[in-house]
Amino acid sequence: MLQQVNGHNPGSDGQAREYLREDLQEFLGGEVLLYKLDDLTRVNPVTLETVLRCLQARYMADTFYTNAGCTLVALNPFKPVPQLYSPELMREYHAAPQPQKLKPHVFTVGEQTYRNVKSLIEPVNQSIVVSGESGAGKTWTSRCLMKFYAVVATSPASWESHKIAERIEQRILNSNPVMEAFGNACTLRNNNSSRFGKFIQLQLNRAQQMTGAAVQTYLLEKTRVACQASSERNFHIFYQICKGASEDERLQWHLPEGAAFSWLPNPERSLEGLLDVYGFESFPDNSLEQLCINYANEKLQQHFVAHYLRAQQEEYAVEGLEWSFINYQDNQPCLDLIEGSPISICSLINEECRLNRPSSAAQLQTRIETALAGSPCLGHNKLSREPSFIVVHYAGPVRYHTAGLVEKNKDPIPPELTRLLQQSQDPLLMGLFPTNPKEKTQEEPPGQSRAPVLTVVSKFKASLEQLLQVLHSTTPHYIRCIKPNSQGQAQTFLQEEVLSQLEACGLVETIHISAAGFPIRVSHRNFVERYKLLRRLHPCTSSGPDSPYPAKGLPEWCPHSEEATLEPLIQDILHTLPVLTQAAAIT
Ligand code: ATP
Ligand code: MG
Repeated sequence: MLQQVNGHNPGSDGQAREYLREDLQEFLGGEVLLYKLDDLTRVNPVTLETVLRCLQARYMADTFYTNAGCTLVALNPFKPVPQLYSPELMREYHAAPQPQKLKPHVFTVGEQTYRNVKSLIEPVNQSIVVSGESGAGKTWTSRCLMKFYAVVATSPASWESHKIAERIEQRILNSNPVMEAFGNACTLRNNNSSRFGKFIQLQLNRAQQMTGAAVQTYLLEKTRVACQASSERNFHIFYQICKGASEDERLQWHLPEGAAFSWLPNPERSLEGLLDVYGFESFPDNSLEQLCINYANEKLQQHFVAHYLRAQQEEYAVEGLEWSFINYQDNQPCLDLIEGSPISICSLINEECRLNRPSSAAQLQTRIETALAGSPCLGHNKLSREPSFIVVHYAGPVRYHTAGLVEKNKDPIPPELTRLLQQSQDPLLMGLFPTNPKEKTQEEPPGQSRAPVLTVVSKFKASLEQLLQVLHSTTPHYIRCIKPNSQGQAQTFLQEEVLSQLEACGLVETIHISAAGFPIRVSHRNFVERYKLLRRLHPCTSSGPDSPYPAKGLPEWCPHSEEATLEPLIQDILHTLPVLTQAAAIT
């Protein structure tokens, strides 16, 4: 049953309580209040409906974070919740012996990742993949994480290193408003929509302090400068310049008074927030920008599927563990359609650019639909009068219009404009438009060029591949941002809208695997390396027939222990306990 709840806090409303009690009977056998259930793996049975109702109950109780096994689900509150992001709370999560025992929070993921970097068990680079629809809260979440690291990764080992870390942290935070000004804009879905992708790498030294950072950006939606959909706006920077310029500056830059700059209509409103990748998008009119954005989301979804849903189950099979395979939606066919070899949508659009021949939008549609007719992800394109094709993405079908696609892919800069800017005396412009550019991208005579062309799609594809390579070399952590309603209203949970997001990201499958699977995986070699110390230091921990896996209260019952030395070890054991218990059950 699906319904809209414009609601009240269940704690303050009799009706809402009734509703919860009903749920309780139906799904949880009266054991726990639905909104108190902070891990979806404990919902029983795990179905889309039970998961949805649990998230709804928590949302109405102002509880915005919920664990779903390996994933953190972040519901967008659409209202300020300052107490949830205070430095005091950050420190609390940082200082907690077991942060995973505290309430689910983006800080738990931040802290876990931070600890894993220095873990003696599996020290590997870490990454956090924040995903979700446009307006779901990715940028907000990424900013919270940055602030978290700014607080926890600058604790001083020495005064000098503290100063360095503080400088870096401040620079990263300071760069955010600048990047947001040039890369974010107000769209129909989000007042502060990121119109570019962003991947931030933080470098930590052995003392876990920030020593450097690198920011990689992807595909800025440049067409927005000259053209925005109705009711959308240009990049924030233009409005900021208009508002902030002095009278003299306005005269010098030929800016009209107020915000009446002709390219600026209206991803007078306030500006805020920033950071990360764009969310999945589907508008009435989708073009190359949406194709690239949705392609990036497909790649990230595949990374999740490959890493978590597929690899984990395959590993169980190899290890000979008892396991009934849980099916999941694999989006490889969709990626084959978009980027596959030898023929895909990307290759066909690139081919048109390479041949540099005049071809109509209708011809491109026909080429795509004929050459890729066998793909299960190419939708039936019957209703549209405009030349277009449909891609059935993991998050839903999207119709892309072919008009202008090839031109946009060439990303042409008119040669007259280039020549004009090359003559500039301004050192910045001279640097941007060198007289001898290395990259030759367009303007070949029609039908003659056979040279490889650096198109938007090929550059984007290459940078996505680089990003994925980096992600593959890390231990990923996932945060799924969910938009409770598309109007951006607080305390409003639209079940249909949330349901489609839960379906799209395969959350139920994730919960099934997390609930039935093994939450921590440690290689045999590292496990032995890590825990052989126990046997050496503590004769009473050597495995007897009754207690092969010491866990609880080690310092108390072990007379040989020195708490200070053992503390990190004990934390590891407590953390690893579920694995040990399951391993014991199997053997
Ligand atoms: P896009 O893909 O368009 O860039 P996004 O997923 O990055 O979207 P955000 O810009 O992070 O979306 O969030 C949209 C808005 O939702 C924010 O501007 C903010 O008003 C609100 N919001 C998101 N998360 C929170 C939060 N945790 N607390 C309060 N408000 C939030
Ligand atoms: Mg964003």
